[in-house]
Amino acid sequence: MKQSSTDILIIGAGPAGLIAGARAAECGATVVILEKMDQPAMKLRITGKGRCNITNSAEMEDFLTHFSPNPRFLKPAFYTFFNTQLLEKLERLNVPTVVERGGRVFPVSQSAKDVAEALIKWGRESGVKVWTNACVSELVVSDGEIRSVTLKDGQTIEAKSVIIATGGVSYPGTGSSGDGYRLAKSVGHTITPVRPALVPLLTEGTVAQSMQGLSLKNVTASLWVDEKKQADDFGEMIFTHFGLSGPIILTLSRKAVIALDKRQSVEICLDLKPALDETKLDTRLIRELNTHGKQQFKSILKGLLPQKMIPVCADVVEISLDKPASQISGVERKALLRFLKNFRFTINGHRGLKEAIVTAGGVSIKEIDSKTMASKLLQGLYFAGEVLDIDADTGGYNLQAAFSTGWLAGQSSAHWFAASSDSIGKV
Ligand SMILES: Cc1cc2nc3c(=O)[nH]c(=O)nc-3n(C[C@H](O)[C@H](O)[C@H](O)COP(=O)(O)OP(=O)(O)OC[C@H]3O[C@@H](n4cnc5c(N)ncnc54)[C@H](O)[C@@H]3O)c2cc1C
Repeated sequence: MKQSSTDILIIGAGPAGLIAGARAAECGATVVILEKMDQPAMKLRITGKGRCNITNSAEMEDFLTHFSPNPRFLKPAFYTFFNTQLLEKLERLNVPTVVERGGRVFPVSQSAKDVAEALIKWGRESGVKVWTNACVSELVVSDGEIRSVTLKDGQTIEAKSVIIATGGVSYPGTGSSGDGYRLAKSVGHTITPVRPALVPLLTEGTVAQSMQGLSLKNVTASLWVDEKKQADDFGEMIFTHFGLSGPIILTLSRKAVIALDKRQSVEICLDLKPALDETKLDTRLIRELNTHGKQQFKSILKGLLPQKMIPVCADVVEISLDKPASQISGVERKALLRFLKNFRFTINGHRGLKEAIVTAGGVSIKEIDSKTMASKLLQGLYFAGEVLDIDADTGGYNLQAAFSTGWLAGQSSAHWFAASSDSIGKV
């Protein structure tokens, strides 16, 4: 059994762990990152469908509104290292970025791998060592201080300070399988129950399924809980073999999951023509039906809906596709109007944690000092990234939280180490 030691030991080489390592090393500490997979940043490499939505260009106050459960917790981390500093740093690492719709920031190369490699390079140049295939199984504590960690293969590594950056419990194939919760709990931390956030939703019946693969752009989806509107979002969505997915559905899913857990009734309502209010759309329908009276209903629908949705619409509004436009009654036109502005799906479940883009819940932030990311329970222990009970909408917010908390945890642990003792030896 090999015994080693370092100033700061980081568990997990995801975005939070990598940036924590680079920053701690820049502040003068010796740093080892332990990563259980055979390469660092597996999840980061698949973010944004391989393009990596690094952050969002929103201003701080707007940015914070995208977080739950307590956005204020992130303020000190964001004041220390926010989107502009991140993008400047990436630019210096030869990863120029571009802002897209909704303030979403991507690398110009459109490659998440480039972001991962840049972070690894930054750490390496600052002297960080990354050990892969190194799965931490235990934290060793004595006299109220963290002393070392034990790996699955029995190896022990001493450290003055440990940062847990093990991520959540979604997409476990990337390495984030909830180990951090178990480690944190073993030293007395409270774990807020975890549940999926940003997760596809299951629909009752077969209507959504019959449009599997159809993606819609520029639509508004609203979430209704017990017949009251809770939230809405504008953008892109997709019908799948189980129901609804895509960015705007994922954004609404957090509140939907909570409501489903409470056994409340949940509906998603699609407005397929958000640019037109009901009166304007009705006027347009009247004009279409009058001008093209001899055409069949299906021809009218071609100008209004994607092909895959046409038979579905005819079914829902109960108008034969062959019916001449001139014979469509006022009641039928109102049914069509309802379909276009208020296409409703009853939600009866959601996909599991494994398929969630992020995990809600985690290490309770009440037990973490937001100014340093230090544990309030155990000296020398720090947390960063998704392992904490913070989660956000889609749009680059989750990665920024991982980067900002990682930076702060790395910097604070290095300063704490420098203030508290001399280095105890090098790996
Ligand atoms: C498909 C998908 C797409 C996404 N796209 C985006 C996006 O475009 N923009 C955005 O903002 N967010 C996106 N996210 C969310 C974002 O990827 C995460 O919030 C972010 O990766 C969290 O970073 P982290 O460093 O905290 O954890 P992770 O990235 O999960 O990294 C944790 C690391 O810890 C390691 N680890 C775990 N346990 C141990 C252990 N016991 N010992 C050693 N190592 C361990 C893991 O192997 C892993 O490498 C996406 C998520 C998914 C699943």
